[in-house]
Amino acid sequence: MRDLTSQILELIRLTSTNLPEIVEKRLRNAYQNEEAGSAAQGALETILKNIEMTRKNSTPICQDTGTPIFFVQHPAEFDTGELTKQIRAAVALATKRTYLRPNAVDSLTGKNTGNNLGDEYFPTIHYTPAEKGFFTIDLILKGGGCENVGAQYSLPNNRLSAGRDLEGVRKVVLDAVQSAQGEGCSPGFLGVAIGGDRGTSYIASKEVLLRDLEDENTNEDLKNLETRITKEANQMGIGPMGFGGNATVLGTKITSTHRLPASFFVTISYMCWAYRKRRMILADNQVTYE
Ligand code: SF4
Repeated sequence: MRDLTSQILELIRLTSTNLPEIVEKRLRNAYQNEEAGSAAQGALETILKNIEMTRKNSTPICQDTGTPIFFVQHPAEFDTGELTKQIRAAVALATKRTYLRPNAVDSLTGKNTGNNLGDEYFPTIHYTPAEKGFFTIDLILKGGGCENVGAQYSLPNNRLSAGRDLEGVRKVVLDAVQSAQGEGCSPGFLGVAIGGDRGTSYIASKEVLLRDLEDENTNEDLKNLETRITKEANQMGIGPMGFGGNATVLGTKITSTHRLPASFFVTISYMCWAYRKRRMILADNQVTYE
């Protein structure tokens, strides 16, 4: 198998230092929508300056470079064991070059491995077999602060009068935003999964964050719910970094998966303004990035 370590290293560099333009565009629009001279607008101004500077200098967008989460779609006959080795080598190299902060800490001893290589869960790598010839690696760098305000609800939820329907989903997602109060660095983006078991629901809520920010859900009900949740979250007045203001959530993506009749989980993965995600595509022996 071809050695892709240096191409994966470039994927990590791009993800950590160069925020996708569409995310920046949403942040610029949010800046325009805040009151001139307000703390909210000031926070967004600082964020926007930081995005420009880090892109220019090839330095991390945030000091917390997060958990590297890779989603690989590969041809069926692909050697995933070899690719895992290359991804891990690229992560260690990226840490050495300071594109990533050393973030892998032993949960029992507190010892940092120093190179972002922990056990088989760190970095996290998900493999999905795809059609012949189709090979992509998506990377999300998921910050710790925003991961802390993610949440999972089991419906029905009596406290919120949330039943097992889309209205119940709406109530618990907005409750998660309300509870975060801007922690996890708002304005953010919501990845929501309906269904699954507790584990798969969390994975799906992160995977849905890979969707194009501009796309529309192919399910009409979920599309309307995405729009409504974003709008209602922004009416809460939480604002950038919790300073108050109009921009709390800049996008919502929802997916649903099959579940047991006995369970109805709704899982919210909250992504901070540093919505670091990039894709590497290998086609006809050429590597490109999105
Ligand atoms: S939540 Fe995001 S923006 Fe905030 S410190 Fe963590 S990585 Fe940085």
